[in-house]
Amino acid sequence: MNPCADVLVLGAGPAALCIVAQLVEHGMNVTALASHTPDQPWPNTYGIWAEELESLGMASLLGYRWSNTVSYFGDGEGMEGDSPVEHNFDYGLFDQSALQNSLLERCGNLKWHVETALKVSVLGYQTEVLCSSGNTYRARVVLDASGHKSRFISRPNHGPVAQQAAYGVVGRFSSPPVEKGQFVLMDFRPDHLNESERQKPPTFLYAMDFGDGVFFVEETSLACYPPLSRELLKNRLKSRLSSRGVEITEVIHEEHCLFPMNLPLPDRNQPVLAFGGSASMVHPASGYMVGALLRRAPTLAKQLACAMAIEPPLNSASLAEKGWSVLWSKELVQRHRLYQYGLDRLMSFEEERLRSFFATFFRLPQEEWSGFLANTLPLPKLLFVMLRLFWISPWKVRVGMILGGSSFYS
Ligand SMILES: Cc1cc2nc3c(=O)[nH]c(=O)nc-3n(C[C@H](O)[C@H](O)[C@H](O)COP(=O)(O)OP(=O)(O)OC[C@H]3O[C@@H](n4cnc5c(N)ncnc54)[C@H](O)[C@@H]3O)c2cc1C
Repeated sequence: MNPCADVLVLGAGPAALCIVAQLVEHGMNVTALASHTPDQPWPNTYGIWAEELESLGMASLLGYRWSNTVSYFGDGEGMEGDSPVEHNFDYGLFDQSALQNSLLERCGNLKWHVETALKVSVLGYQTEVLCSSGNTYRARVVLDASGHKSRFISRPNHGPVAQQAAYGVVGRFSSPPVEKGQFVLMDFRPDHLNESERQKPPTFLYAMDFGDGVFFVEETSLACYPPLSRELLKNRLKSRLSSRGVEITEVIHEEHCLFPMNLPLPDRNQPVLAFGGSASMVHPASGYMVGALLRRAPTLAKQLACAMAIEPPLNSASLAEKGWSVLWSKELVQRHRLYQYGLDRLMSFEEERLRSFFATFFRLPQEEWSGFLANTLPLPKLLFVMLRLFWISPWKVRVGMILGGSSFYS
């Protein structure tokens, strides 16, 4: 039997490393276990608006940074134009290993047990994790950071869960797919699609120049149920590129991305805590999460450190309750509901209305659209921004925001 820790963290992805680093810094006795070692490179590339990292003093963790950041939604009557919306706001990609190593350094000498958890049993003042090896580990509270597919976290069933799906290629091209030195957040121009394709759920190009003739291009579906298939996304990417006379000449890396956007919030009275994908922390309007992990881990760790010190000691369920109360505070739950409402509406928009929506969204003052996307606006300000967005939107978008558009669910 392994000795009882204060907190047992499941996972070795970004969520696990963020929270373990904070727990260790608060002097807690942590057991960490994951199906792989924590220095194994993460499979995904993580993007973030540079200001989010600057505000955390972590901008040096960016591997790439672009100042020439644009989107294309079309413009004018029928939204057929080619003018870019200039964001005038830096975007970056994490240097994956720098982020991973800096978090691991902050975890001190902590060794991860390479184990796969099978069962979590709450036993009053301790919680036990049984692993596929037959080993068991105990802690005063278990924190599940094993991603959005976690089997240990219960959540209500609100029906189908929409997924963000994307197919991307890092490679070389017959001619530059985007301007040199440019980052394209969303290219929604649909001119390469025929009428029947336009009736299907819209997708956009997310693309960037990596330098030395290497670019990343990714065809992305914001959120859809059922999710768009890899084949459809791949074909759309090819036809988008070939309509501009661009061919892929070398594939260096392929990325296939699929994760839930509107996973219901976990039950907040369960005796096991969660963080990251398992805690539904993905931003429902953008699919981003790493900035939120870095911002929210300190508050959760501090709360747990305080709760651990309470005498007489709290049991696992009470410790988890303390954690849930800050991780998903009333304010954050309300904000999440607003975002989910917004996503629900957007998913029902046909492509022209969707482009019109985004064109309007990026006409908001920069601190408003960026705060909306980072989820850093306090609730009253978020409401104000959503009302302002409604106010400045064309009638068709306003109607869609209230009644929805022609749904793609069926
Ligand atoms: C392709 C892709 C691209 C994305 N791009 C971005 C982006 O640009 N910016 C952004 O902010 N977000 C992005 N996201 C969203 C989100 O940030 C990621 O999904 C993120 O990886 C979730 O982190 P996590 O630590 O919660 O889960 P994961 O990264 O899924 O990590 C889960 C960990 O738990 C371990 N584990 C699972 N089950 C068990 C078990 N039973 N026992 C022990 N260990 C277990 C796994 O081995 C892994 O270490 C992207 C997601 C995907 C899929």
